[in-house]
Amino acid sequence: MNHPRFDIRSLSFDQLAEWFREHGEPSYRAGQLWQALHSQGVGDWDGLIILPKRLRETMTREFAFQLTTIAKAQTAPGGTIKLSLAYADGCNTECVFLPQKDHSTACLSVQTGCRMGCKFCRTAMLGAGRNLEPYEIEVEFHLLTKAAAEKPRNVVFMGMGEPLDCLLNTIMAARLLADPAGADVGFRKMTVSTVGIAPAIRELAQLEPRLKIAFSLASPFQQQREELVPSARKYPLTEIISALRFHAQATHRQPTIEYLLLAGINDSEEHARAILSLLTKLPCKINLISYNTNPELSFHAPESAQMLRFQQWLRKGPNTVIIRKSLGAEISAACGQLAGEG
Ligand code: SF4
Repeated sequence: MNHPRFDIRSLSFDQLAEWFREHGEPSYRAGQLWQALHSQGVGDWDGLIILPKRLRETMTREFAFQLTTIAKAQTAPGGTIKLSLAYADGCNTECVFLPQKDHSTACLSVQTGCRMGCKFCRTAMLGAGRNLEPYEIEVEFHLLTKAAAEKPRNVVFMGMGEPLDCLLNTIMAARLLADPAGADVGFRKMTVSTVGIAPAIRELAQLEPRLKIAFSLASPFQQQREELVPSARKYPLTEIISALRFHAQATHRQPTIEYLLLAGINDSEEHARAILSLLTKLPCKINLISYNTNPELSFHAPESAQMLRFQQWLRKGPNTVIIRKSLGAEISAACGQLAGEG
């Protein structure tokens, strides 16, 4: 039986350097290979023309490239691109390129499903998937860069899966993306989105304080939140807000509160008042997002006049409140619409 071969992109720079040293190769090889893998996003042996053929042949005996295949690529009017990706083990995921006026954003998935069960999200219907390896998350970024012919300036870990449910992989992926000899995305341009795993919010602040955080609130009322986000039963809002305060103090950065507006469910003035009271001691920015329709789910987006009213109610507080424009709904690429359609 063959020994299972590691994907070469799962090795650290020091491990690569060590391998070249052990094989009597010059030390610059590690830098060449690292740049090809992590800056240019080379994803197969044939693309590694920087290395002599005999060296590539030796490496193939020890390492592999696990293929990530683009099963489907869709572009919406306006330039949003959604890639549906398939892995050798039969799992699927999706990632999205979001063009904006003066910059673009890569929305990356961290899992191939999600066990959080949010009632308004299509990914939840898939159930738990597997965690993506850090290099697999990085590959999403490179594939989006190639598909869009443009390197995204921002990265949001907001695609399929809960980033704090696979915290270490998310942090390692962010570090790979931030590497100046790799994709070189600044930490200030990367945001981790969570539905609220309180202990992991604190852990994130301690392990990687350079990453920004966005918390998806769904409802300021604990009972309603538990109905919309089943994982909320384990982590009450008071604990989450206290963890976010800890995060803000440890990182010196304000969190973003993402609020998905569902018509007739969480868009009343009472909700707005409860949000303001919940956030009294948490300096933060609030992003309002309109629900994106999913044929399988019975929620609806509020009228735009109601969204504006909701924004005005929240503006009675000290926070900046922005209505975030949804992109890619035509190709089911918007928030809550990803479902790994391979
Ligand atoms: S909203 Fe996020 S955390 Fe909730 S089920 Fe969907 S992917 Fe998972």
